[in-house]
Amino acid sequence: MTLINSKIHFILLAGGDSLRFSSNTNKLLAKFKNKNLLTHNIDFLKELKFKKITVVINTINKDNISNFDDLEIIKGGKTRSESVKNALNKSKFKSKYVLIHDAARPLNSQKIINNIIKNLIEKQYDCVVPFSKCSDTVVVNHENLDREKLKLIKTPQGFVKNKIIYLHKRNIKNKLTDDSQLFRIEKNKYKIKYLLQNEINLKITYKDELNSLNKLIRNNFLAGIGYDIHKTKKTIKNSFIKLGGVKIKSKIKVISHSDGDVVLHAITDSILGALSQRDIGTYFPNTKRNLNRNSIDFLNYSLKKMTLRKMLINNIDIMIVSEEPKINPHFEIITSNLSKLLKTDKKNITIKATTNEKSGLIGSGHFIACWSNVSLKVN
Ligand code: ZN
Repeated sequence: MTLINSKIHFILLAGGDSLRFSSNTNKLLAKFKNKNLLTHNIDFLKELKFKKITVVINTINKDNISNFDDLEIIKGGKTRSESVKNALNKSKFKSKYVLIHDAARPLNSQKIINNIIKNLIEKQYDCVVPFSKCSDTVVVNHENLDREKLKLIKTPQGFVKNKIIYLHKRNIKNKLTDDSQLFRIEKNKYKIKYLLQNEINLKITYKDELNSLNKLIRNNFLAGIGYDIHKTKKTIKNSFIKLGGVKIKSKIKVISHSDGDVVLHAITDSILGALSQRDIGTYFPNTKRNLNRNSIDFLNYSLKKMTLRKMLINNIDIMIVSEEPKINPHFEIITSNLSKLLKTDKKNITIKATTNEKSGLIGSGHFIACWSNVSLKVN
């Protein structure tokens, strides 16, 4: 769908005034996971390769939005309907279809977006609306309503663009809480598709809702520790040692069955630990097959298990203990390489190094060791 997504206009509504959120700041600037709700939405759409994204804002400062080439910012109106109207009429993006979404819904779903686009393009609906069923009892004036008949309407909603522009132009009420309402007023004239969505698609209205959501996510962290040590021997000739997948000139050689990269071995063990797996030696014993083996293979094995669990690196803290080589000059290159291997930003990686103050077997230069402490978060 990503090629098609580049041709569809996506309007993200961020013009609300957050009156019920009970906070001084706009709710869309409140933290969800590690970014604010608005950025969370924009990054998600960028990942899906939408190339025509319009964000409608009122009180939010433009500086709070990570701007990029394909992002258009339009000033909203006094009401939600006015904001949509402004975006539809003032946008420079041309397209046959448009999707409109409330930025207060952070759990946007690729599955539902693909389904909406499919129904617009292949099945030629004019208006496609996701909904969920109501599982709570609904009471009005002490009377129970028949909940089986209820549809709880969500966004994003998809439309044939010239039709929604036409209907919004004619709308004088300006009190719409969603856009599909315009099509329902003339339901015999337009093809409307309701899509049942069972995934959670919460609209954040109250601060407690966001707190509960963040609490659920916070509980989904895992932590693991890894330690590795290898014997070393001094070399007369210039030799090299591998640390974090980087070859470094050194006066010592590591004695090991594999390539002896203590950093990658410790990291691999810490990730396996966080995932409640056994240690590196269990999966990669000292067999012929693993002789002189590149430690990136071990690391990738643990990363594959991490991806299958839908986790990613939150942060990693590494401590190398050795007398030789000096680690300081190589921090930058090791960090960059680990950032690539672990598919995480450099700011999530800390590498520290210490000597053993000439004491013990490490201090006398006979061993090199490494500790790794990792935390993983839900992707
Ligand atoms: Zn090792």
